[in-house]
Amino acid sequence: MILPAISYHLLIDKQTLFWVKKQPQKNYCGLTTILFNINEIIKMSIHHIAVSNKYARNQRIKRQRIVWGHCLFSCLLFLLFLPSPVFSYDSSSADYKKYINRLEKQFSQYGWTDVKPGTISWEYYRTTKNKNPLIFTTFGNSKGNCVLFLGCVHGDELPTVYLMFKLAHYVKDNPALFKDKCIVIAPIVNPDGFLATPPTRVNASGVDLNRNFPTKDWQASAIRKWVAKGGKKRYSPGAKPGSEQETQFQLALIKRFKPQKILSVHSPLNFFDYDGPSSDLNSFEHWLEKISKETNHPWKKFGYYPGSLGNYAGHERNIFTLTLELPSSDPRHGNMYFQKFQPSILKFINLPIVGSLPNIKR
Ligand SMILES: [Zn+2]
Repeated sequence: MILPAISYHLLIDKQTLFWVKKQPQKNYCGLTTILFNINEIIKMSIHHIAVSNKYARNQRIKRQRIVWGHCLFSCLLFLLFLPSPVFSYDSSSADYKKYINRLEKQFSQYGWTDVKPGTISWEYYRTTKNKNPLIFTTFGNSKGNCVLFLGCVHGDELPTVYLMFKLAHYVKDNPALFKDKCIVIAPIVNPDGFLATPPTRVNASGVDLNRNFPTKDWQASAIRKWVAKGGKKRYSPGAKPGSEQETQFQLALIKRFKPQKILSVHSPLNFFDYDGPSSDLNSFEHWLEKISKETNHPWKKFGYYPGSLGNYAGHERNIFTLTLELPSSDPRHGNMYFQKFQPSILKFINLPIVGSLPNIKR
């Protein structure tokens, strides 16, 4: 009974056959070897169970891998075709076309007939609460020398939009400007506020986007300071830091392009203001003083708020962050402001940054 059992076992297990070939001289018929055989059968049975278990485990792992592969593939297909607010870059989408049409209509109402939003190649990956795409465009691809322009962070600061679109046209027509650098323009950070009737400073959720950045002092001070100053709706920092799509949009631009310089255009406070960097401060103040004289536009150190861009980018990340406050929010003055500030904007693009590099890992 032992030998047939062994034969049967040998037939079904390649590894055991191998063992027999290696030891052909063994005599299984002697009385003294019966105990040995029993011992070997037990060992082989255990081995067989182990091999069978291993085989079953491998099959299980294979099945799991196939299932996970299918899941991953389905998820990728899902993300590719689902119009999500984060992954929907499609310049032929209905949302995008609707948005560009609305902008063109709005621009003609403001008399901005020389800027054509549809003629610039825009990218977008996020939409706002009102389904407006958060667009930006990039010129040049030099890494390490990027400048970021932000317009219309506050939706009712109308000429800032004209300035940014006009700048996009100008840069597009003058490729020498971005030969050795990259220029990123996000002309309307707050489209819901810009397209509201009447336009509003805050976004569709009632949040001031220049108080919503996740700065270190946000949790401790943003809401407390806002309430202490009267809790005006215009300055609401939101329920939590970075809660708004528009804030996430700006954070993503900073993270992706790692700009050395940022120019954010606002109105109507009528001055230049800057934050950061912490090194080589004197040369920036010198530069700003010169620009201020040339443009006949005052500059001041305005300070920063919990959740403001100046705090997040300039103070905390060492990025030279310049704020241009236009003299008024009257959309009819857009072209006049572009003529006035264009030379200083071009100088800002070419301004070399010395000293320590921005810290944009966080
Ligand atoms: Zn503003």
